[in-house]
Amino acid sequence: MQRKEAEALELKKKYSIPTDLEELQKVEAFIKDYRHFIDNAKTERLATNYIEGEAIAAGFKPYTHGEPLKAGDRVCYVNHDKSVILAVIGSESLNEGCRIIASHIDSPRLDLKPMPLYENSGISYFKTHYYGGIKKYQWTAVPLELHGVVCRADGNKINVNIGANPDEPVFYISDLMPHIGKDQMSKSASEFISGEGLNIINGSMPIDEEGGVKLNILAILNEKYGITERDLITAELTAVPAIMSREVGFDRSLIAAYGHDDRICAYPAARALFDLKIPKHTCVVMLADKEEIGSCGVTGLASEVYPDFIRSLCDSTNANYLSCKRNSICLSADVGGAYDPCYAEAYEANNSCYLNRGIVISKYTGARGKSGCSDASAETMAKMAAMFDAENVIWQVGEYGKVDQGGAGTVATEIANFGIEVVDCGVPLLSMHAVTELASKYDIYQMLKGSRVFFNN
Ligand code: MN
Ligand code: MN
Repeated sequence: MQRKEAEALELKKKYSIPTDLEELQKVEAFIKDYRHFIDNAKTERLATNYIEGEAIAAGFKPYTHGEPLKAGDRVCYVNHDKSVILAVIGSESLNEGCRIIASHIDSPRLDLKPMPLYENSGISYFKTHYYGGIKKYQWTAVPLELHGVVCRADGNKINVNIGANPDEPVFYISDLMPHIGKDQMSKSASEFISGEGLNIINGSMPIDEEGGVKLNILAILNEKYGITERDLITAELTAVPAIMSREVGFDRSLIAAYGHDDRICAYPAARALFDLKIPKHTCVVMLADKEEIGSCGVTGLASEVYPDFIRSLCDSTNANYLSCKRNSICLSADVGGAYDPCYAEAYEANNSCYLNRGIVISKYTGARGKSGCSDASAETMAKMAAMFDAENVIWQVGEYGKVDQGGAGTVATEIANFGIEVVDCGVPLLSMHAVTELASKYDIYQMLKGSRVFFNN
């Protein structure tokens, strides 16, 4: 064999950058919509509400278990206000299986404790308990928004959303000035800001000359929301960075935003579903909560709510649930950790994914010896690769980092446990789980393209 022929055997990596002006315009239009979503849906409750609204506008109807369904029907099922499942019924029987994209809409953040409010040295604070895998030191000295609900003793549920609008106040966690930081700076990064040290400043003005900053905050909360300190126990309030998405770089090729993981896969999947008319297979999008803390709880993907929905679609169309599961395939759509040359020692360059090289298909995640992952089969990998290649979806492979460096999980394990074939696929990110994460516009667009191709195959 000559050199030329041998060179043709090598895998050529492709870039996800637009091929022409028309595609560039499509990318920019989609990114505009995505940024509107991500700036206005920073918690799972907000994301559920946003997607539900878009679904209703796209002709989806709320689904009641067991109601009869036919090809072309579009249904939407909201799970306890924190996750949402959407489906478009296909022309083939559900016995032939469905196409599922499962993704999550929760992100790492700071939750308020049940008794959050206290005062110290003339400053009023909220105590917090962090949610998901964060580097705690990143959360000091950044503006924070507050979102969530308060279920008042009188039975009313109050929505709280404050800090996103530039006219509104934000919240803040202080850090120690470097001038007197000698002891702090000698601690390891995991210790120099403690979990109990993440206390959010929410006010500083006493109610009168005798003091009482906490009392003043209680008075303001009561005037604004009609709540008392007791009502904070029956609340779910969460602090997220008050930072809006921004284009990054002279070429504006990247988007920095809070919570790309995993709304960056959830939104393209939902949009691809909205665009369907009558697909061959029934297509489903599951947008789950609680992935960041192990997919537990009634809104997490380990809950039977999700397979029950598939079972119910089978009942609604007179199909066999077990045949349906056997013939279904699922994309566990979650972000991949892109190779970061500034931290090259954590990666293995050949098996890492890269920005601007398209969506990343991951055969496995897990830690150490692939522990806890679903490890997609060669057959499943081949199906996905062939599907994407046939429609010019730019894709790559990627592990999370080098072997024994750590690891990660996704909802793929839960999907596999339902008895459904599954593979991980998503958008590569830099700075995953940081207060702002970085992704390529062109990779985000490939996620939309990939989701469309998956639904139409
Ligand atoms: Mn994720
Ligand atoms: Mn994550």
